[in-house]
Amino acid sequence: MSVSLPDPIILIAKQAGDVRIHSFIAPFTYDNLANATHIIESKNALVLVDGQFLVPYARKFRAYADSLGKPIDRLYLSHRHPDHWFGLGPAFSDIDIYALPETIDYVKQEGEASRKDHLPKMGTLAPDTIVVPQNSITTPGEYTIDGVKYIFDRVVDTEIDFLLTIRIPAIGVYFVQDLLYSDTHLYLTKDIENWIRVLQVMLLSDYDLFMPGHGLPADKNEVAKNIEYLSAAKQAIANGLTKGIFKNYMIKRYPARLCPGIFDIYLPRLFGTAGQY
Ligand SMILES: [Zn+2]
Repeated sequence: MSVSLPDPIILIAKQAGDVRIHSFIAPFTYDNLANATHIIESKNALVLVDGQFLVPYARKFRAYADSLGKPIDRLYLSHRHPDHWFGLGPAFSDIDIYALPETIDYVKQEGEASRKDHLPKMGTLAPDTIVVPQNSITTPGEYTIDGVKYIFDRVVDTEIDFLLTIRIPAIGVYFVQDLLYSDTHLYLTKDIENWIRVLQVMLLSDYDLFMPGHGLPADKNEVAKNIEYLSAAKQAIANGLTKGIFKNYMIKRYPARLCPGIFDIYLPRLFGTAGQY
């Protein structure tokens, strides 16, 4: 697989004044999950969001950041799912990494076990070492970095128990990571109802560009489509659909959504005894 890895998609999603928002999206093909990581480029520095999953894409994301010619001030890790932090070891071990305290605790306590668990299937695509974020975000809220105002929030019980979201109000950009799956199948949890409520609040916000954890930068229509998807999944589960039957139903209902590999990751957790999230 190493010789024929498909290319990522790299784009500038927005430019306003001194700020540029870059997005780096791993492939949608094969077993890939279109992992989306982002860069906020301001006048003198770069702020990164998430660290990619597979080693080659983490390194390509780092190379792209380095190509911009400004220092990486810091990287924010949005949550503890390994497809967002496995790339930190191979590509960002020299960078200041920030995360919610719950995310840090998880990576510290379970990170190495998670890495070992993934090794048989991932081989050299998995990292050799893990990196535990050093900087705990104990008080989310407003912060200014390189002249840009950021707003941080701790969102609980949606696609993951604890998620960091980041807003840049001056330019209407909202880094929602795994609250939003853009044109791909969602990773479902038992917290569908609360997840829908959080997305409904986003629909009524003044933000118009949503940076997802999977797929391309999105608008409010995609947020609304995620609500519709979650509502349909909730109803299907209430109607008694489980496991393979549920998967077939969702794929048939949403034939255009990509990355169906996500079903095999979450179905054993949602309908079986494997740990949630
Ligand atoms: Zn994810």
